[in-house]
Amino acid sequence: MTDHLTTVAGVAVDTRHWIGGRRVASTDTFTDVSPIDGSTLGEISRGTGTEAAQAVAAAKAAFPAWAATSRAERARILHAIADGVEKRLEDLAVVETHDNGALLRSHRRGVMPRVAHNFRFFADRLLTLDHEDFETRGHTNRVGWDPAGPCVLITPWNAPLMLATWKVAPALAAGNTVVLKPAEWSPLTASLLADIAAAAGLPAGVLNVVQGYGAEIGDALTSHPDVRRISFTGSVPTAKRIAASAAANLTPLSLELGGKSPLLVFADADLDLAVDLAVEQYDNAGQVCLAATRLLVEEPIAEEFTRRFVEKASGLRQGDPRDEATDIGPTIHPRQLEKIDGFVRRAIAAGARAVVGGHREGDRYYAPTLLTEVAQDSEIVQEEVFGPVLTLQTFTTEEEAVRLADDTRFGLAATLATGDRERAERVTARLVAGTVWVNCFFVRDLRAPFGGSRHSGVGREGGTWSFDFYCDLKNTVTAPKGWKDHG
Ligand code: NAD
Repeated sequence: MTDHLTTVAGVAVDTRHWIGGRRVASTDTFTDVSPIDGSTLGEISRGTGTEAAQAVAAAKAAFPAWAATSRAERARILHAIADGVEKRLEDLAVVETHDNGALLRSHRRGVMPRVAHNFRFFADRLLTLDHEDFETRGHTNRVGWDPAGPCVLITPWNAPLMLATWKVAPALAAGNTVVLKPAEWSPLTASLLADIAAAAGLPAGVLNVVQGYGAEIGDALTSHPDVRRISFTGSVPTAKRIAASAAANLTPLSLELGGKSPLLVFADADLDLAVDLAVEQYDNAGQVCLAATRLLVEEPIAEEFTRRFVEKASGLRQGDPRDEATDIGPTIHPRQLEKIDGFVRRAIAAGARAVVGGHREGDRYYAPTLLTEVAQDSEIVQEEVFGPVLTLQTFTTEEEAVRLADDTRFGLAATLATGDRERAERVTARLVAGTVWVNCFFVRDLRAPFGGSRHSGVGREGGTWSFDFYCDLKNTVTAPKGWKDHG
């Protein structure tokens, strides 16, 4: 055990940055605390502009060789990283749960297998990414994807490794090098990923991980002239700062931001299904960008829907996320708990009624909450809470449902519960949302585009869209004449 290793539930994690294939310590550290019980998980190297510059320099130096590596070789290494993730799945699951408080059973069975899948998917996709050849007056057009260069990837705490690898995998597959900055509230699995990638044979400097507070290291990363792409998942205010910083070099940006998504429940819906979908929105203690936090329910069924919702929500077990029986874990940080409680207090002061919850449970948990009697233009309906807080409003016509659903500055996702296919198609066509789920929620496929409109983001991730973002697209037009061998 050295100064730079911390042990989390028996798993050793290096607390230093990973730059140019070696561990680099900062003189300053920040304390990483577990949301489960407030215990210290480690003293983490706290990067500033110095480490940002070192990491970008390492990514720049490693770029030409990695970009020149064959697709088959890059795919092989990405699959080897996926193998490494699978081999250390339990370590990753346990560390992530201690670090961000999300359910261990979800990490074990859902999230970490998907982390491995992120690498496998983009490795395989790379091998089938085809040049599209076509002719223009006898000339051949060949469209190709050239790697862009060093990419800065900045990620949030609510699904740390899942969201990080969703960016790392396509960026590396495309032939880019990466500087990853995980969130300061949950930095540990990114450090483990650096170990796994190195063991899988990823050359030094191709993946770099730097840690620190966004305000201290962020600007140096996002304003760096050698950075060719910035991909960010996080909040709208941070996105605006990053966009302003990136503007200096016109660095292309991908932004996956917040949401205030609706769940529209029509009177013709399967009511049990609709209630299940609504209660599912408390997943990860509501700290999910896609969560349908606004329940919009058709008037004639609102009372019965609410009765069944209250019954089901009251049965949820809140507690230690390491316990397999737990449904809802803690909130990431006391500061987040404070923020959530502030939203609820102000909503209640403005006339809302808490039919479920509406209060803290100790100093780490927030009770699953449902607020009714909320006005469309109120803060609680318009702003993202990022906690287990839902609102319920009613509507009487399809027209009104669509109007309420669309009336926020976000446009990430929408969920419909209806038994009428034609209605589903009509309503879907009118909603502004990157993803619409009909009678289901959270079904995701990496082949599909993912992202949001308006303040929910810029661009799309997934499938070929990821390669489009991480590459410089090039069209080569070749004439049929001028060749020596053809005279
Ligand atoms: P945040 O914006 O506070 O932080 C996200 C990351 O940005 C962190 O790594 C942070 O250190 C970094 N950062 C902060 N200031 C920075 C700066 N000036 N320059 C560069 N980096 C900086 O967000 P959060 O609280 O960690 O995450 C919650 C938010 O993320 C919510 O709004 C949620 O909806 C959103 N989110 C969106 C998606 C999506 O895919 N659309 C997924 C998950 C979370």
